[in-house]
Amino acid sequence: MSADKVLVTGATGFLATHVVDALLSKGYKVIGTARSEAKYEPILKEFQSKYPQGSISFEIVRDMAVANAFDDVLKKHVDIKHVVHTATPVVFGLDKSPEEVYRAPAVEGTKNILSATKKYAPQVEHFVITSSQGVMLEFNKPIQPLINEDYWSSLTWDQVGDNEMMGYCASKKLAEEAAWEFMKTESPNFALTTLTPPYIFGPQVFDSQVGEKLNASNQLVLGVLSIDPTSTDAQKDNSNLYVDVRDVAFAHVAPLSSTDMNNKRLLPVAGAFCNQSLLNVMNKIPSLKGKVAVGDVNYINSEEYQKIKCTFDNSLTVKLLGNIQFKQLEKVVSDTIEQYSRVNKL
Ligand code: NAP
Repeated sequence: MSADKVLVTGATGFLATHVVDALLSKGYKVIGTARSEAKYEPILKEFQSKYPQGSISFEIVRDMAVANAFDDVLKKHVDIKHVVHTATPVVFGLDKSPEEVYRAPAVEGTKNILSATKKYAPQVEHFVITSSQGVMLEFNKPIQPLINEDYWSSLTWDQVGDNEMMGYCASKKLAEEAAWEFMKTESPNFALTTLTPPYIFGPQVFDSQVGEKLNASNQLVLGVLSIDPTSTDAQKDNSNLYVDVRDVAFAHVAPLSSTDMNNKRLLPVAGAFCNQSLLNVMNKIPSLKGKVAVGDVNYINSEEYQKIKCTFDNSLTVKLLGNIQFKQLEKVVSDTIEQYSRVNKL
């Protein structure tokens, strides 16, 4: 248990609410940032009811891309010991440029909170940033290379154009690079840990966060529900890596009570998936039987899939996280679907 105070940015988000949940369960005090009161109020009430003895409050940061956006928060709470910066736009389909949607908030937001922390919070010990496996994705290679904690993609902002996914990944890369550069040039008192999770799936902390649509990554799981249920074709799309949200939250909290992860990148990954592996799991859920496509069950064992399947070596991360056993696809998808179906009465 720790009574340290932690600042969590974007604390109303899918991942961040799990981070807050993990922090409160361990006795940490939490200050969350959100873009509006309307956004944080229901979440605050849920946490206060789940942790009546817990300490949680929110501060509003309307636009983290604006210079000095986080200064007032760090000035006001002089006892913040750790910062967990998760906020980033994870939205697609907006009719705006990738520069406006992704790059400005991701990169300027990261620089703003790092400099505010150095300037007004010299007592901060650990700074954790949610980066993304998107910083390791190669857009111009037919097969992804094996990735590990040291890997960086070759993607540059010049290549983005109006491609939203490339814009998101390039903005995350620029943001993480800016953070490591800050550590080099500014030598702050705190240590940095960055996390590069792949697709994060899993249930929301509270049923009240579940709507007809889920957050962007879980929408990908729901997406396979709309594949023609009579299809027996192998569903090869979305070949990538996944991890459970609760494991990623754990990996954000672990560096706060140890020096082992200081100035390291963590690669929390459970395994590879594609639409067919999602379907294979869903077909084992009794309530979905007959309602979702079967596809080609054996595709995931085929030579073809084994050749293109994403590969990774995160043995360092596993060791640093105390030989963590990442939750596997069956558990992650079943829990996500169970909550979604219950709330939406499917
Ligand atoms: P999410 O549910 O959309 O949460 C994102 C949070 O960031 C929300 O609280 C959002 O506030 C806030 N935010 C967005 N734009 C902002 C801005 N301009 N200024 C201030 N706050 C802003 O997404 P998530 O999936 O939990 O993602 C959280 C973090 O994990 C992100 O850094 C993301 O890049 C990273 N990540 C996610 C995945 C994944 O598969 N989900 C995988 C790898 C890495 P509003 O609610 O007000 O919009």
